[in-house]
Amino acid sequence: MRRRKIAELLESADFGSEVTIMGWVRTKRDSKGGFSFLEINDGSTIKNIQVIAEDKLANYTKEILKLTTGCSVMVNGVLVESPGKGQRVEIQGTDVKAIGWADPDTYPLQKKKHSFEYLRTIAHLRPRTNTFGAVARIRNAMTYAIHTFFQERAFIYLHSPIITGSNCEGAGDMFKVTTLDLQSLRNEDGEVDFREDFFGKPASLTVSGQLEAEVYALALGSVYTFGPTFRAEDSNTYRHLAEFWMVEPEMAFCDLKGNIDLAEELVKSILAYALKNCKDDMGFFNRFVGKDLIATIDDIITSSFVRLTYTEAIKILSKVTEGFEFPVEWGKDIQSEHERYLCEVVFKRPVVVTDYPKEIKPFYMKVNKDGRTVKAMDVLLPDVGEIIGGSQREDDYETLLNRIKEMNLDPADYWWYLDLRKYGTVVHSGFGLGFERLIQFVTGLSNIRDVIPFPRTPKNLDF
Ligand code: ATP
Ligand code: MN
Repeated sequence: MRRRKIAELLESADFGSEVTIMGWVRTKRDSKGGFSFLEINDGSTIKNIQVIAEDKLANYTKEILKLTTGCSVMVNGVLVESPGKGQRVEIQGTDVKAIGWADPDTYPLQKKKHSFEYLRTIAHLRPRTNTFGAVARIRNAMTYAIHTFFQERAFIYLHSPIITGSNCEGAGDMFKVTTLDLQSLRNEDGEVDFREDFFGKPASLTVSGQLEAEVYALALGSVYTFGPTFRAEDSNTYRHLAEFWMVEPEMAFCDLKGNIDLAEELVKSILAYALKNCKDDMGFFNRFVGKDLIATIDDIITSSFVRLTYTEAIKILSKVTEGFEFPVEWGKDIQSEHERYLCEVVFKRPVVVTDYPKEIKPFYMKVNKDGRTVKAMDVLLPDVGEIIGGSQREDDYETLLNRIKEMNLDPADYWWYLDLRKYGTVVHSGFGLGFERLIQFVTGLSNIRDVIPFPRTPKNLDF
């Protein structure tokens, strides 16, 4: 018989029909009355389905009684209305078979609650827990929501490269990509001859698809990338990964305001999608992880983001006399503690900070008329801080060339990027949304290592 998904059966009213499910035993309870209750999960939903196996089944003593948490099973049975509390339907088992055993003496996921730290050491088994199953389903739903958002607005999905030859995108330290034998890399002069390497020049993993997205935006109008990005930042924080996923829209004929409008619309739209389409998983996080999670998200969807300039933000922050580790001063970057203070204490809402000093932002951001600030924008959320960074791009050839030189970069490395300003330049803008930061926010999970299947962080590559 065709295998049915538990998510579907729990919604079904097809009582009396014969069904087959396959999944893993979450718990088993043997009743004195001559039957066992099995809670089965197949990953299609956070909910389990209850199976009743009676002792009249031929393999009851030899097999069913020996089932333990973690065993995989196949169940044939009849879908019935449940007389018990807590569930609407259950399966009266007619044929319950063990597929794979899980020795209860060694299986690491017993009924007791495990710490997130411990679960990270068993990343191959943690998706079988409620939390990590829910994270995986929410990541999937949010991915769908993001593609839908852009597709409905006729953005073209662009596959930007993962290996890049420009080692100066300015967004962070890069991982090298090489086929050279690292042992014998340097010649007598202590230099590496990259002509011998695979690409004949130094290559790295990308830190952003932005520059390539600009190329396509200036031909196709509106594009977006959604792929893995890599930063070799040696920072062990709860919101940085060495490999993370980023969504990067880039729009021709769009200024900073249009850019912020799109960012706000995107964040609200995908948050609303999660609330509507991931009810069970969101309900779980609301109960066990993030206090008032759903109410907070609801608030964000229905109110507008605060927009203020960096200069205004500094004015507000410099009135705070205690509690900050990092100094607040015009010209210095806004730290995550400041970002959170603005969102959580001052405005109690998402905040968009714009027009940062040009010294603390990359060369490609459009310089304002004041000559001191650039058309940058960061979207800040409560708890996670910065979730989006973006800007209007410098579209004037001479200004861009000067900025490249000012930052001690080599214009020759950017010849194609400069060309875009030489031939048919237009006002254009874009931003990068950190997908894992978004998932952190939606789930309320405080550590970014718990919202990606296999986290890559300094000194951690066990899976
Ligand atoms: P931060 O200051 O928080 O380290 P950033 O300013 O270096 O971030 P951007 O270059 O603006 O980051 O990247 C765009 C978005 O990508 C950020 O707003 C954030 O959501 C996400 N992001 C950046 N670096 C990381 C990382 N190491 N791990 C996970 N997400 C990241
Ligand atoms: Mn940023």
